[in-house]
Amino acid sequence: MRFKAICLMICSTFVAFNTAQALEICGDLKQGELILIKNDANRFVKLYSGDSIKKLSDTEYTPKNSKNYMSTKDGITLMALHRDTPPVITIGTYPGTDAGTLYELQIEPAVWDIQKINGVSQSKVTPTSKTDLKEIERERRELGRAITYKKAGNAWRNGFILPIEGRISGHFGNQRIFNGVPKSPHTGVDIAAPEGTPVKASGDGVVILSGKDYFYTGNMVVIDHGQSLQTIYAHLKKAAVKEGDTVNKGDIIGYVGQTGRATGPHLHWGASLNNVRFRPHSLLDINEKSCRTVNGQYMGE
Ligand SMILES: [Zn+2]
Repeated sequence: MRFKAICLMICSTFVAFNTAQALEICGDLKQGELILIKNDANRFVKLYSGDSIKKLSDTEYTPKNSKNYMSTKDGITLMALHRDTPPVITIGTYPGTDAGTLYELQIEPAVWDIQKINGVSQSKVTPTSKTDLKEIERERRELGRAITYKKAGNAWRNGFILPIEGRISGHFGNQRIFNGVPKSPHTGVDIAAPEGTPVKASGDGVVILSGKDYFYTGNMVVIDHGQSLQTIYAHLKKAAVKEGDTVNKGDIIGYVGQTGRATGPHLHWGASLNNVRFRPHSLLDINEKSCRTVNGQYMGE
């Protein structure tokens, strides 16, 4: 109460200053893209479940209805805009647990293709056997653990390269129909290449999963690049790394194959940030994305 009274007298200039507080956002504000949020150091960032600031009620400004993002020591937050991001989202930046500043962002829609894939073994389209369901559960659990891994780190700052060269045979976000049965949207990009082609680590990091014989993804490697960012390499003929290995961008981590649910040899290359899949090619210009300034609305008294 005492603070409030003092604040009434002296905070007006302070509030005015904070109302104008700006944030720098780098990257395309578009469904499926990776963005960088440049913030003051020592503030943390939340993404709210509601869409616009107006639609968020006071009760929604709680940790329960938001997702927390890590920030580097110099105030950079990586955030992925998922495939179905609504046209308007709200993010908040906080100096601590105090009132923060909210920013409303307009998100450009992306166009997602429909991809028909035929000739898949029917047991891989609609699995029913107990063994298969148990295997799917193991895959879900182990991949889930890898893409929810949160560790600070700067490995991602060294940039990313394509893991292999080749024709794109399946885009990120495609709505896929296997043997006529609609399935979940494609979570990565498929790059066709002959079996045995060496697959490179697309960035520096640590191998956090090198799993074998998964039902859908076959042999799969996941690399953590710090700040909740991971890249995924699936359907490998064979992995060349094990969990805990440190890799540099360009190191060989495995070989192209067609293990799991695949109709031909290809690499499934995926990217995940804080458990949100995004278009992996959005990593390639991570250090050169164009930035803009966004003004926020201070939520204090
Ligand atoms: Zn794929």
